[in-house]
Amino acid sequence: MEGPQVRALADRIHALVAGRAVDRIDVPADRWQANVLLKHCAGRQVIRVQSRGQWLIWDFSHGISWVFFPLRQWRWSLEDPLASASPAHAPLAARSGKRPLLRLALSGGRVLTLSGRPIFLLLMTDAVLRHPALKDMGPDILDLTFTIPEWVRRIRAARPQTISRTLINPAIACGIGNELKCETLFTARLHPACPVSTLPAAALEKCLTVARQLSEAAYSRAMGNPLPLHDHPRVHDRAGEPCDLCGTPIEADHSGADGHWSWFCPTCQAPQLQPNLFARLPHAHRAFE
Ligand SMILES: [Zn+2]
Repeated sequence: MEGPQVRALADRIHALVAGRAVDRIDVPADRWQANVLLKHCAGRQVIRVQSRGQWLIWDFSHGISWVFFPLRQWRWSLEDPLASASPAHAPLAARSGKRPLLRLALSGGRVLTLSGRPIFLLLMTDAVLRHPALKDMGPDILDLTFTIPEWVRRIRAARPQTISRTLINPAIACGIGNELKCETLFTARLHPACPVSTLPAAALEKCLTVARQLSEAAYSRAMGNPLPLHDHPRVHDRAGEPCDLCGTPIEADHSGADGHWSWFCPTCQAPQLQPNLFARLPHAHRAFE
């Protein structure tokens, strides 16, 4: 689950729980040592549920926050006894077969259940953004006050890397996971190994604009309002399948120490098609010496 999906999840949960008290909290006795702390939040009011990148943050009225990261598959599901025919019965994130980890009975009768194994932190609300996992994160790509020129400036100020690693570097901008990265590079016709330092400003701005458009479309889909943009991955996790545009088999490549794979079309995203006409790649440089 990437930033836009977590943002949509946060917005949907916020609409259900904000301003409500949590009447009861149940956790499996053998799962978390945080049992006592979790139960300490029973009777308290949820102020808001929000996201930052892929982190989901619940803020309670007594200055405590729950902070989740979807390390593996998870599911939030809702039981609403007051609206038995409501579509809200559907899971908030469609995953199944996971053990319940946390069950919250809200004032008014609704019950929210979290299944799966996310990372979970329990923090003072005013310390959340100082936690080592969150303190160095850049702006969220869905934050509309975060402009493309500011994104370019942050990229140019960071240590130069490939465009592939740059897009998923949360210190520059948070919210882009590996799937959005691969789909962005395909749409922008950029090879994952393209050094960001060789990209002209216009190509970089186009790439970031695509990333934002795809992120907004992913958010909209997760909110149940699909936009007519890419309702299936064009390259992500499709190694060996034909490219939608040219039929060339999609390739997968390990982009290096960050541990992420990149899927791409070797024809549509060929390095020689890159707009870096005046840049000298290391091997080209040697050839002229
Ligand atoms: Zn292609």
